[in-house]
Amino acid sequence: MKKLVVITGASSGFGMELAKKFAQDGYPLLLLARRVEKMEEMNLPNTMCKKVDVTDFESFEKAVREAEEVYGKTDLIVNNAGVMLLGSIDKQDPQEWKTMLDVNVLGVMNGMKVVMDDMKERKTGTIINVSSIAGLQPFGNHAAYCASKYGVTGLTAVARQEMSPHNVRVVSINPGAVTTELLGHTTDQSIIDGYNEWKESVGAVNIKAEDVATTIKFAYELPQGVLLREIVITDTRQDA
Ligand code: NDP
Repeated sequence: MKKLVVITGASSGFGMELAKKFAQDGYPLLLLARRVEKMEEMNLPNTMCKKVDVTDFESFEKAVREAEEVYGKTDLIVNNAGVMLLGSIDKQDPQEWKTMLDVNVLGVMNGMKVVMDDMKERKTGTIINVSSIAGLQPFGNHAAYCASKYGVTGLTAVARQEMSPHNVRVVSINPGAVTTELLGHTTDQSIIDGYNEWKESVGAVNIKAEDVATTIKFAYELPQGVLLREIVITDTRQDA
């Protein structure tokens, strides 16, 4: 049996595509998100689905330990769960900033902490954090989202330094715009419309969630001694 893969945010978008791809190749899975029914509906083999909010360290850790009892130690965690609530700094509700920083930054740190000690001890393992191109450069109406994703970029780089002496790989992937449910949680409809118009106008509509999932799986399936440190993946026609 292959080793355990943990995927956060597996109830839609990149996480759901990742779950399908890893399941097709026979990996045992632990899928985490709040909408557990969406993960269960996929009906994947050797898969445990748990309702976990990644900001809650205790329930996150409990779910991972339960899956490890059944499938053995975690070999890969993809810290993918995230939210994007776009808005300008002066107008956006500060509660939305807080939600993004809690989920996108602290949720990723929780995921790393749950597996790191054990990976260090076993001298193997892989952590893949989903940041964003908005973790590398600014975009309008993205201030708090950029703050959260620059945070992921920074913490991933430090974790890579901490973990490389232990033969543990830490990867960051920075996707550009890809159509998923992500934009739908933004509360300002004019910002949603503007974002969609920009995507259409540059023709950035070809890349799919499954392309991102294929790339993450490729990075993982390289030999343990080979680290694809940072990946930037966008639609060919995305111009920023
Ligand atoms: P989706 O909105 O389709 O998926 C987000 C996932 O995160 C859902 O499964 C959601 O599940 C989960 N999630 C959100 N909040 C929490 C929480 N508190 N606890 C547990 N799970 C949570 O978006 P994408 O697939 O597009 O996004 C995945 C990642 O990729 C995110 O980190 C996003 O920032 C990043 N990204 C996406 C880009 C894009 O254009 N699509 C571009 C660059 C980066 P549930 O609601 O059931 O809890």
